[in-house]
Amino acid sequence: MPVKAQGRPRWLSEASGGMAMPAACGEARSEREALEPMAAEANQQPVFRIAGLAKVYRSGDVEVHALRGVDFEARAGEFVVILGPSGSGKSTFLNIIGGLDSPTSGEAWFKDHDLTRMSERELTLYRRDHVGFVFQFYNLVPSLTARENVQLVTEIARNPMRPEDALGLVDLGNRLDHFPAELSGGEQQRVAIARAIAKRPDVLLCDEPTGALDSRTGIRVLEALTASNAELGTTTIVITHNAAIQDIADRVVRFADGRIASSIRNERRRAASEVSW
Ligand code: ADP
Repeated sequence: MPVKAQGRPRWLSEASGGMAMPAACGEARSEREALEPMAAEANQQPVFRIAGLAKVYRSGDVEVHALRGVDFEARAGEFVVILGPSGSGKSTFLNIIGGLDSPTSGEAWFKDHDLTRMSERELTLYRRDHVGFVFQFYNLVPSLTARENVQLVTEIARNPMRPEDALGLVDLGNRLDHFPAELSGGEQQRVAIARAIAKRPDVLLCDEPTGALDSRTGIRVLEALTASNAELGTTTIVITHNAAIQDIADRVVRFADGRIASSIRNERRRAASEVSW
């Protein structure tokens, strides 16, 4: 089972800074104004439009071509599953469209914003206002309850859901005051999903969200993802090694060696409850 390197992620530091330090929260609110407002958008405009995306990591004399020219579009509300072997560039791609990394070349547009031209500050605002992240490990704050973990985000979000509603959407309405240690792995991941969707992000980016879970708990996590996709219209992109998950997607994209090898639309989308592994 692949295990991604997990430091304290940048997106979480941004989200939790407001609660841990009230002064930082005020700063966050004023910084928010710096991201220029969206221009009027045509409904059919893709949420992401990626062209010729390349990423080369250099360390000393060694070059790793993680992405070798990726073209990709996602429509509003689409549920995309990304499959591909380890090292094929999936996480690099997700990190770039999530504003956590920058490409070496190519185009990466979020609606009418060119991610490749954003400053660090603008990328911070982009992540905070528009992107929800879910990773293999849940990164919950152990000393806070499920509700308080979600509040970390809702206190600095522009148009948040109530934490109780976000937790209800992932079927954890009866676990609001439980601490992470009192929750199963699947329940902790659902809290992490509630935290990610509570700010009503345009896009939810998930990197191996069920990677550490057995089939039964993983399916509850997939149900949480499909519920937020259906009820909030959140464009959802899920990286997985698990081919069984592909059936719940509108579209399945396969990465191989830094490129998209295929992009296939599912004629019939299965419910998460119909999937097993
Ligand atoms: P996947 O998510 O499909 O497993 P990754 O996007 O994580 O693939 O990695 C693609 C390639 O880029 C791999 O060869 C990986 O070792 C390399 N890579 C990823 N991140 C870095 C980094 N920060 N520095 C150097 N090489 C990296």
